Amino acid sequence: MNASFIGLGIMGSRMANNLLKHKGMTLTVFNRSAEAMAALEEKGAKAADSARAAVADAEVVFTMLSDPEVVDEVAFGEQGFVTAMGKGALWVNCSTVNPSFTRECDQRAHAQGVRFLDAPVAGTKMPAETGELTFLLGGDSADVEEVRPLLDHMGQKILHVGPAGQGSAFKMLVNALLAQSMLVYSETALLGEKLGFSRDFLMDTLPNLPVTAPFLKGKAELIKEGDYAPQFPLELMLKDLQLLDVTAYEQKQPLFLASLAKSVYGQANNAGHGRDDFAAVFDYLEKLH
Ligand code: NAP
Repeated sequence: MNASFIGLGIMGSRMANNLLKHKGMTLTVFNRSAEAMAALEEKGAKAADSARAAVADAEVVFTMLSDPEVVDEVAFGEQGFVTAMGKGALWVNCSTVNPSFTRECDQRAHAQGVRFLDAPVAGTKMPAETGELTFLLGGDSADVEEVRPLLDHMGQKILHVGPAGQGSAFKMLVNALLAQSMLVYSETALLGEKLGFSRDFLMDTLPNLPVTAPFLKGKAELIKEGDYAPQFPLELMLKDLQLLDVTAYEQKQPLFLASLAKSVYGQANNAGHGRDDFAAVFDYLEKLH
């Protein structure tokens, strides 16, 4: 089998690395910045000169790119790869994009004779590295079953949540909770410090309460260390809150709190935290005082 992977950032580089463990498969990779391909080449991947060259012989093409604009350009732009894919080949888009954009991708891919799945992931840098992501899949069941053996190398859970677009739709819900929980936790802990509790005490106790989201245990450790090296860059969380806003508008469902959260992450991004982990919203809020 021939597969391709396009987009080797924090997530894509680690996912492609795990995909290389699949026996009997040739993996061709492409990334805009060529440096990211070297480590995978050493492990047996072929590096392509362009996205179009990467997909020419592929039965399955994975993409893990920043946002809808980038996916649009790389897939459908002047040098877009979709028209270079073989008829009947399968494009699996793991990038986080909004559901209406995903449905467009599905239609445009099918118009070129290419099958499509949306497959955004829940889980960050470490689960990507250890192959423990959760895939949220939208598309045809037969396509899901075809690609499952490959996804099994990158993820530990595969949830098929509906037709094309529904993977992206579910991912909007996951990140709505993630962004807002991080913000609520940060504000609450900062008030705790003003009330006289030490940071270490707060970071050791608050995450263990039943009212706190489980992922905040890991973030509390990073806040204690002041370590905001990006696992999930804040600028991408801001992008997801914008996609959530667009989706809420399309569905005529007001999201009062998520809109407010978007403004706070936007300010943190403007203050220079874009390439920090999104937990750096804590640092941003702390410096406001
Ligand atoms: P990242 O490290 O910023 O990687 C972004 C990727 O997109 C890189 O390969 C980058 O290429 C490529 N790219 C950006 N602009 C481009 C352009 N104009 N043309 C071509 N390629 C371009 O981001 P990431 O954390 O891996 O995230 C990738 C996707 O997964 C995003 O949609 C994100 O929301 C989602 N996601 C991330 C996490 C996480 O924890 N990090 C978790 C779940 C989902 P270069 O290397 O050349 O810049």
